[in-house]
Amino acid sequence: MDGYAGRMLRVNLSDGDITTEPTPEEVIHDFLGARGLGAYLLWTEVPQGADPLGPDNKLFISTGPLSGTLFPGAGKMDFTTKSPLTGGYAGASVGGMLTAEIKYAGYDSIILEGTSPKPVYLYIDDNAAELRDAEAYWGMGSFALEKRLKDELGEEFQIATVGPAGENLVKYACISHDFGRQAGRGGVGTVMGAKKLKAIAVRGSGGIPIADTAEFARIAKEAYRACKEAELLDVWTRYGTMMVTSWCDENGALPTRNFQSGSFEQGSSIYAPTFREKIVVTDKGCFGCPCPCGKYSYSKKHDVYVEGPEYETNGMMGSDLGVGDIEDIAKANQLCDELGLDTISAGGAIAWAMECYEKGILDRDQTDGLDLRFGNAEATFALIERIARREGWLGNLLAEGVKHAAAEVGQGSEKWAIHVKGMEQSAYDTHDATSMLLAYMTADVGAHHNRAWAITYDISVGRDLVTPEKAAKVIELQHIRPLMDALGCCRLQWVELGMSLDYYAPAMTALTGVEYSWENLLHISERVWNLTRMIWVREVEGFGREWDAPPSRFVEEPAIGGTTDGKFTPPEAAQRMLDYYYEQRGWDDDGIPRPETLERLGLAELVEV
Ligand code: SF4
Repeated sequence: MDGYAGRMLRVNLSDGDITTEPTPEEVIHDFLGARGLGAYLLWTEVPQGADPLGPDNKLFISTGPLSGTLFPGAGKMDFTTKSPLTGGYAGASVGGMLTAEIKYAGYDSIILEGTSPKPVYLYIDDNAAELRDAEAYWGMGSFALEKRLKDELGEEFQIATVGPAGENLVKYACISHDFGRQAGRGGVGTVMGAKKLKAIAVRGSGGIPIADTAEFARIAKEAYRACKEAELLDVWTRYGTMMVTSWCDENGALPTRNFQSGSFEQGSSIYAPTFREKIVVTDKGCFGCPCPCGKYSYSKKHDVYVEGPEYETNGMMGSDLGVGDIEDIAKANQLCDELGLDTISAGGAIAWAMECYEKGILDRDQTDGLDLRFGNAEATFALIERIARREGWLGNLLAEGVKHAAAEVGQGSEKWAIHVKGMEQSAYDTHDATSMLLAYMTADVGAHHNRAWAITYDISVGRDLVTPEKAAKVIELQHIRPLMDALGCCRLQWVELGMSLDYYAPAMTALTGVEYSWENLLHISERVWNLTRMIWVREVEGFGREWDAPPSRFVEEPAIGGTTDGKFTPPEAAQRMLDYYYEQRGWDDDGIPRPETLERLGLAELVEV
């Protein structure tokens, strides 16, 4: 079990029973750790049809083999569960320091099952693990609680918390860590809140067994040096993901006023140089990262500190709401983080409500007096609070997610609900980017960009092309990027710094003593991808092609203004992309993996088809 802690911690919140068990070696072999281990555990341990918010659902907190090692960016981990937002698979990754600490404490995964009768937090100090009373912390914000637990337990404890949104079962509540890092998507924080688990505090003092320490250190050092010598290191360290903002604006990909446009007339006021100059205080990195892309910021206007905004928050709390002041975006970011809301889903839900308001579908009575015009930052702040606390008719409605809200309100507003599979789309406009549209349609959690960031490929080969090659590119990316989520490391070193993919297999071989090739790792990643697809097939009655449908806006309505003015993807083009994709994946016309595909991937026995 070199490379792994070799144990998992099982915590039953219903009866308080806590046990350890060996990490199954054959599972690690077939699925790797973090995302892969989480998907396997979700498939095997959560019964079909489990209520996502009930005791039968489980939350798996898993580290990867590279987590906590010297490999560049080895600070990532995965939260896996059945999503209360979509009803299907949810896997959310987070950086920071937690993954290393869990591994040093001796665990590959923490399995949270059952539901506590009262608020508790999970205390782990190496082998000591116990549930402690958290009644006094219930209602606290994420930052406030993280600070309090560090004050009480010691600075070296790494903390993950849920805020009031998780307690109130907002369907897209996140899990917060390291004063501003979020496991954001799919409602992983909602599940933690439903289990009445307010926080996790971990301290570990152990090490990680390495098969060939000298060789692993040599590879890690070389990879690290490659990152340090990368041409883009300075600019990525200076601006982080915010540097994408201007590129998106210029390329018609910056979501603006609920994705009606891909260009924002106030764009330059939220570009990276303005951000750096106006509010950034210092750079902040995850464990072992050569490129501290995180930015800790201070808004004088609102007197708030926040990590961020990241690009996604900038897009979804800024341009997509018509808000063009970086300090207002920082404030919205801080509110979401403190309350424990995913900024992408919250932004998508508020943008939809603003469009409904401007189009006369929601009136001021329904908004409880808020003037919900695009650009109204004060109304945005108020609505974020109401969503997190489920206050008022609208706050409670939007807490359910945009798909549910639009179904409830109707009157054509379903067409403005920008989601796939019930997950609000992250911050890339896809009116004129067929690969990126397909990436959103087929991402295994819903409309999230991080499985396949294909928009640069669209721009390089022709944005509106509909070709099998584009589907192949999306599949290729869906294997590479999620692979890093299974290894427990960050992808930015590869994507943005150009660190070679050739480092990964030798590093894994030296770490684990198991001979890995790049093709072998990709094969495992494909296996995990198909398993997550089977989770959807099992959990969602009637799951099929319509669940991969694109948001109507991108296939029916032309973009307004900017470089993509008048563009949209005809519906038949989107369906043709899906045909290419299904065929190359070995799935049938309804998007269900064929038996021979499951056989080829070694999944047939596990999923019993
Ligand atoms: Fe964390 Fe950014 Fe480094 Fe990735 S590049 S590990 S997100 S600091």
